[in-house]
Amino acid sequence: MIKIALSKGRIFKETLPLLAAADIVPADDPETSRKLILDTNHDDVKLVIIRATDVPTYVQFGAADVGVAGKDVLMEHGGEGLYEPLDLGIAKCRLMTAGLIDAPRENKNSRGRKRVATKFVNVTRRYFESRGEQVEVIKLYGSMELGPIVGLADYIVDVVDTGNTLKANGLEPLDHIADISSRLIVNKAAMKMKHERVQSLIDRMRKAVA
Ligand code: AMP
Repeated sequence: MIKIALSKGRIFKETLPLLAAADIVPADDPETSRKLILDTNHDDVKLVIIRATDVPTYVQFGAADVGVAGKDVLMEHGGEGLYEPLDLGIAKCRLMTAGLIDAPRENKNSRGRKRVATKFVNVTRRYFESRGEQVEVIKLYGSMELGPIVGLADYIVDVVDTGNTLKANGLEPLDHIADISSRLIVNKAAMKMKHERVQSLIDRMRKAVA
């Protein structure tokens, strides 16, 4: 049995053609089905549909053999217990800091520690530490753009694609932290124990990506 962990939405849609290239076709559409485990055209291949931020955890603990996760989620998770053999080149965006358009940055510095709102608390701490800056990191679960508007934070750290969401809320992108795309991840034990199946999946998906 091979279990593949995927999240609904963009990652699922963009992974479908790559799975098809590996001859894996789901029997249901997760957007309309309420099932959390989807059958495929192979009796021994199942898709586990979970939240994007849970994918590395499922793969790390072997609840899924492989998975597809954004590099942002992997950077935040830390990546223990899993391999990251393939950049799928999908769901591309950038992890960035952002702040209110035309806000006087210097004043913020002189008033003490900056406050940064984000769901990527580990990445954010590491990023500012690497720049020798001490900041107060505020954990949010969504709508980070609100933080600076309501005075909760001076900056946010979030993924940005077109930048339209930032702009619509009076924010501008500032520092580029990392380029993001989705990666195929593999449980370390599964890579050994199910080597042939997993390696064939990686090879076929790699060809489809190229
Ligand atoms: P944007 O195109 O910058 O306005 O992005 C639209 C929204 O989607 C923003 O809230 C982003 O945080 C989010 N977003 C954009 N690209 C991605 C991605 N590849 N993965 C996850 N979230 C994204």
